[in-house]
Amino acid sequence: MTLAIRDNATIWHPLTQHQITPLPIPIVRGEGAYLIDASEKRYLDLVSSWWVNIHGHAEPTIAKAIYDQALKIEQVIFAGFTHEPAVTLAEKLLKLLPANFSKVYFSDNGSTAVEVALKMAYQYWRNQGDTKRSRFIAFNNAYHGDTFGAMAVSKESFYFKQFADLLFAVDMFDYPGTWISDDSIEEKEQHTLAKLSAHLEKHANETAALIIEPLVQGSGGMNMCRPIFLQQLVALVKSYDVLVIYDEIMTGFYRTGELFACLKSETIPDIICLSKGLTGGFLPLSVTVCHETIYQAFLGSDYTKALGHSHSYSANPLGCAAALASLVLLQRDKTIEQVKLIEQIHREELANLADCTRIEKIRFCGTIAAFDLVLPADYGSSASVKLRERFLKHGLIIRPLGNIVYILPPYCISEDDLRRAYQLIRKEIEGVNL
Ligand SMILES: *Cc1c(COP(=O)(O)O)cnc(C)c1O
Repeated sequence: MTLAIRDNATIWHPLTQHQITPLPIPIVRGEGAYLIDASEKRYLDLVSSWWVNIHGHAEPTIAKAIYDQALKIEQVIFAGFTHEPAVTLAEKLLKLLPANFSKVYFSDNGSTAVEVALKMAYQYWRNQGDTKRSRFIAFNNAYHGDTFGAMAVSKESFYFKQFADLLFAVDMFDYPGTWISDDSIEEKEQHTLAKLSAHLEKHANETAALIIEPLVQGSGGMNMCRPIFLQQLVALVKSYDVLVIYDEIMTGFYRTGELFACLKSETIPDIICLSKGLTGGFLPLSVTVCHETIYQAFLGSDYTKALGHSHSYSANPLGCAAALASLVLLQRDKTIEQVKLIEQIHREELANLADCTRIEKIRFCGTIAAFDLVLPADYGSSASVKLRERFLKHGLIIRPLGNIVYILPPYCISEDDLRRAYQLIRKEIEGVNL
């Protein structure tokens, strides 16, 4: 029996309608930006294996850091005990984030980092005797993860329609997504800010926090907003004394061209969530980082005010060791040059696509490029599935989100590979019978 058939007999895959999906491709190894299957076919990983991989696959220094750490201590309960990789990682992250951040809370994936942020914000007010603040503000098309709290603040997401009845109430606003030559952006931004302002005027004292994916909404369609919008948004929300949570799970670690979207947009949230690229894409690990004032609100002489949250693998030492090795790679000049190069290639190649009549709303932010195909939006629509398969035949891993095609490569991708991918994308989009 082939591996794919054994898989099919035993495994239920994420985000997959098994009845209509071809058998999965068994990958045996990775090399830089490539994944390689059992027949030695090479696939260019233009989605960084669901946005986690930043330095390429099987990167040897991260692999070695994990191995070395595993020979010392692989896992230890994180209540009452600590370890060097967690402490050093927390110190390093705090040095890289804006100065106001002071405490790092470890968990084990993006969704849980968001759950921690929501709980922190909610309980922050309760711990101070303010029990009215139980509402959250979020954005249409947001995606913050697949656990219940994270789903609630992403409730307009296509993925969660089945669970709508179970989600807590969240006030939703439009994310002012923009693109090249968009002349309605100021209007969209002002519309959202005006609505939000009116809402806060009435409900600020019932609202615990606002959560947003700064600069780029990921799963919701690679919608990109301007730094100026975030500046105005954060100023507005803070003027009403509501907490701001940045979900930088996708945007962190140079995805947007700068180390973090908060640095690029020159805005400072109260709480920030990081995961995905944190370990270079090697191991599941996440952090929720907050200001000292939030941490202080959880102190008390008994357990009552403590944060009631933990995961078995909180601050797993192997994950922390991988993250430390990834940070070393991230801070090399070479990595930053590659990030700039990818952005430059996106700029040039997207400009070449501008005359393609099937494409609209062309946009990019750092290493992320996206555009809309002119066809009905609907994730899993036959056109996007068809395109995904055709890209795959050419050895390109691209997974359109409905009618939105995006590229989000590992930073180690070569210029030739990326430019060649753009040529194939054009050919397929012009050729496919939609
Ligand atoms: C992927 C993602 C999450 C969820 O992370 P998981 O590790 O998949 O749980 C949350 N927020 C954003 C912005 C993401 O891109």
